[in-house]
Amino acid sequence: MEAFNYVDERFADIRMLRFRVSAFNGLTPRQRRLIYYLGEATLWGRDILWDQNCRLNLRIRKMLETVYTEYKGDRTTEEFRQFAVYLKRMWFSNGIHHHYGCEKFKPTFTEPFLREALRETGQTVDEELMRAIFDPTVMSKRVNQAQGEDLVQTSACNYYGPGVTQRMAEDFYAKQTDPHDPCPVMHGMNSRLELQEGELREHTWRSGSMYGPLIDRIIHWLRLAEEEAESDEQKTVVRSLIEFYQTGDLRTFDRYTIEWVRCTRGDVDFVNGFTEVYGDPLGLKASWEGYVNIVDHEATRRTETLSRNAQWFEDNSPVDPRFKKAECHGVTAKVVEAVVLGGDLYPSSTIGINLPNSNWVRQRHGSKSVTIGNLTHAYSEAAKGNGFRQEFVIDEETIQLLDHYDDQMDDLHTDLHECLGHGSGQLLPGVSPDALKAYGNTIEETRADLFGLYYIADPKMVELGLVPDSEAYKSQYYSFMMNGLLTQLVRIEPGKQIEEAHMRNRALVAHWCLHNAGGAMELVRRDGKTFLRINDYEALRRLLGTLLAEVQRIKSEGDLLSAENLVETYGVRIDPAIHQEMLDRYAQLDLAPYKGFINPEIVPVRDSEGKLVDATIRYGEPFDKQMLRYGRDYSLL
Ligand code: ZN
Repeated sequence: MEAFNYVDERFADIRMLRFRVSAFNGLTPRQRRLIYYLGEATLWGRDILWDQNCRLNLRIRKMLETVYTEYKGDRTTEEFRQFAVYLKRMWFSNGIHHHYGCEKFKPTFTEPFLREALRETGQTVDEELMRAIFDPTVMSKRVNQAQGEDLVQTSACNYYGPGVTQRMAEDFYAKQTDPHDPCPVMHGMNSRLELQEGELREHTWRSGSMYGPLIDRIIHWLRLAEEEAESDEQKTVVRSLIEFYQTGDLRTFDRYTIEWVRCTRGDVDFVNGFTEVYGDPLGLKASWEGYVNIVDHEATRRTETLSRNAQWFEDNSPVDPRFKKAECHGVTAKVVEAVVLGGDLYPSSTIGINLPNSNWVRQRHGSKSVTIGNLTHAYSEAAKGNGFRQEFVIDEETIQLLDHYDDQMDDLHTDLHECLGHGSGQLLPGVSPDALKAYGNTIEETRADLFGLYYIADPKMVELGLVPDSEAYKSQYYSFMMNGLLTQLVRIEPGKQIEEAHMRNRALVAHWCLHNAGGAMELVRRDGKTFLRINDYEALRRLLGTLLAEVQRIKSEGDLLSAENLVETYGVRIDPAIHQEMLDRYAQLDLAPYKGFINPEIVPVRDSEGKLVDATIRYGEPFDKQMLRYGRDYSLL
C-alpha cells in the first residue's frame, strides 16, 4: 500500500486527520456520479448548521475570513498567529463555541489588533460582532444545561427567537403532543420558534422559508442524484427527502425515514438532514448533518458472520440456562467508508451512527446501524507512534502484541458487543427492564463488553475466520484491562469520580478481575510508574466467564442490591495517587484531546459539453484551503 498521510496539522486542543476511501476507485462511473451529487448536497447544508449554532456565526466567519485572506500587514507576528488559531478553532467547531464543551472561545489575540486588521482590509467595525468575540459575558455558552436557569434564554444557539422563554417553548410543544398517537411526529424538530406580536410561531426550515435558499441548493443536487440512484427504492428515498425539504411536513419526514431504513441494497448510502437534538437545550430542534458513504462488503461480512451464529454463541455462553434466550437473532451492523462529511458530522465526526431517531419508526421498521470503518482506521493510524503505548504498556513484547493485533481485535470486540452482547440473554418472567434503576446502563454495558471479551478468546473465532490465531485475543485483554484500570482516568478531572456508564463498566470489569485474579494479573511499580502485567491470559478468560454469568444473573433477576454493590465497589471510585500519576504521564505526551477530519475532494469529470461523466477523488487539500473553499462555494452570504 502506498503511503498515506493520516495525520495533519495540530492547533489548540485539536489534531486534524485525513481518511482514505479505498472503495472509491472500484465503483462504476455512475456510482461515482451519484457520490458527487450527494456530496454536493452534503456540503450545501454547512451554513444551516453554522446559523443554528449561533445567529452571529456566519457574519463573524465572513469578517474573519476576509482578514485571513486579505490582510497585508505582518502575518508572522504572534498576534496574527493567534488570530489564525482562533479562526481555525471556529472553523472546526462550526462557530464561536467549543464543539464539545459548548463554551465560547477566549480569543488569544487582542481587540486593537482586530480593529486595525478590519480597517486595513476595508471592513467596517460591527460592534455587535466585536462584543460576541471579546466580551466573555455575551453568548457565553452555546447549550446551557445548568439546572435552575432558563435554558432557552441562557443558550446562545439559534433555535428560539428573542423573548422566547423555556417555559413558553415547553408549553407550546406540550400542547402539540398527543400521548395516544401511536405514530407521533417529532414536533418542532425542523423549525425555529419565534415570538411575533406576542404570539409564538414556528419558522419552518424548508424551501421558501427559513434556510430556503440553501435548502433549494440541496434539492437541486438531490434531483441530480435521483437520476443516478442505484435502485428504484433509493430513487423513492431521494424523492421523499426532496418532498420533505419542499414542504417541511413531518409526516413526510417519517415516511422518508421508513423508506430509508428499508433501502439496504446497493453500495452507496447517505444521511442528509435535520438529525440530532444535542444542540438544543430542550432536545427538540435537530441540527443539520449529512454524509455520503460506501459499504465495506468485506468488513460487513464480519458482522453478518456473527449474526448468523448468534444462537451458537447464546447456547455456549457460561450463563445459567434459565437466563438464556431460546431464540436468538444477532444484529447486523454495516461497516461503511465515509466519503464526504458535512454539517454536524464535520470536521469532528462520530464513528458509529444508528438512525432514525423516531422511537415508533425504530420499533416498527427497525434502524440502520453503521460503523464508519475508515474513520476508525484513521484514528488508529494516527495513534501509532504518538508515544502512548511506549509510555503506558509494560514491555516491548506487549507493545508488539498490541501493534500487531489491537486494531483488528478492537473492531471485533465492538462488533461482538453491538451485534451479540446487547441482544443476548433474557429477563426472568415478571422482572422489569428498569429494575436496576440508575445502575441499569452500567450493568447493561458491562454485560455486552463481557460477552465480547469472553468470546473473543474462543476457538470458535479462529474457526469462523474472524481472528487470525490463538494469540490475537491477548492484545484486546491487555488494552481493555490497561484502559479500565489506568489510562481511561486521563479523561477525568482530578478529584472527580467515574460517572459515565461505559467508563464505569470498564473500571468494574478490570477492577473486579484484578481483585479476583490471584496472580493472573497484577499492577506493578517500575521506575516510580504503575504498569499492568498479565501473567495468565487463560485464567483471565475464566474470570471473565464467571463475571459474565454473574452480571447476566443480576440483569435477569433484576437484583438491584447486587448491581449497586458491584458498580459502587469496582466501577466508581478512583485511587487519587494513580489518577494523578496517569494525568501527569499523559500530559507530558502532549496529545491533542480532540480530533477531526479534512474531507477528500470529489472532483467532477465532464465531457466537452459540460455533462458529468465521472468523478475522481483527491486528497491533500490543507484545512484552511478547504474551509475557505467551502465558505466561497457553498455559501449564500
Ligand atoms: Zn453498548
